[in-house]
Amino acid sequence: MKALRFHGNKDLRLDDIPIPEVKKGYVKVKPAWAGICGTDLHEYLIGPMLIPTTAHKITGEKVPVGIGHEMSGLVEEVGDGVEHYKVGDRVVLEPIIYDGTCGACQAGSFNSCYSNGFIGISGFGGAFSEHIVVEENYLNHLPDNVSMRTGALVEPLAVAMRAIANGNVQASDTVLILGGGPIGLAITLCLRSIGVKNIILSEMAAKRKTLALEMGASHVLDPSKDDVVARTLELCEGAGGVDVAFECAGVQPAVDVAFRTVRARGTIVGVSVWEGPASLDINKLVFRERRYVGTAAPEHKDFEAVLKALKEERLKPDGLVTKTVGIHEIEQEGYKSLIEDKANHAKVLVEVGGG
Ligand SMILES: [Zn+2]
Repeated sequence: MKALRFHGNKDLRLDDIPIPEVKKGYVKVKPAWAGICGTDLHEYLIGPMLIPTTAHKITGEKVPVGIGHEMSGLVEEVGDGVEHYKVGDRVVLEPIIYDGTCGACQAGSFNSCYSNGFIGISGFGGAFSEHIVVEENYLNHLPDNVSMRTGALVEPLAVAMRAIANGNVQASDTVLILGGGPIGLAITLCLRSIGVKNIILSEMAAKRKTLALEMGASHVLDPSKDDVVARTLELCEGAGGVDVAFECAGVQPAVDVAFRTVRARGTIVGVSVWEGPASLDINKLVFRERRYVGTAAPEHKDFEAVLKALKEERLKPDGLVTKTVGIHEIEQEGYKSLIEDKANHAKVLVEVGGG
């Protein structure tokens, strides 16, 4: 079968590899649609970072590994003992790999496992392939009223839902999102799906500002033109700041703005992945009992929350997709657009098998 694999920095190859055996408890899936993630771009440009160059603790695999982890697909074959899936089922991948034995896992924090990994990054195959064979616990059913194309957005939406859960956001809250990239936009959508109406988003790129309004932001500020701190405090009408700020930009000015716009006892959620350390004005946390919390991999319940919201049509994420490409065009058309024309793109989807 054809499978796009990461061999090294800026070295992706569409390899011909054997189809993995469908062992007991495993399900063979034909990927339909799959998204290109910011993590995939990081690995490509400055990696390998998460992609293992020595045997991964859980998967035992190292480069070359299959890539792609935001996936919908069709069940093609099931192994003995598979309980919840049958041939023809429409599914989405839940790619988080954990050992179940470390201190984090023992405490129930499976998404923060000390040995964690992801299908499509750490081994166990990838979504940019003609087939993928995984244990059934890595799958979820896609509701009948949701298209396969939309199904490929479930994983990034679950990341957004996780960030919202970590910020303990309530429907009546006022929220500031710093950065209108794919995750900032996904957070906007997910906030709307749980009834949040006061959403301020800060972003410079014209296309992303338009998308933010379409996704449901109530106010869009431009840090190249607006005083984001002053405008945000004005929009909070005397509350002293927003209840929750999501830092989705990964740059120092975004953290500085977050520290100055969250109310006393408010929460800053660190969503972006940084390329180096940031400088934090800790007294801003200390004197006003503000909290700073990190968020990364979603939990199973975050996938369930997204699938339920899609089923109930509270979440309509198709506007996030700014381009679709074929499996032969992933690097040249997909990665290239997201790297060289970043300001004009949010989510690029790969039509792998289609459907
Ligand atoms: Zn663990």
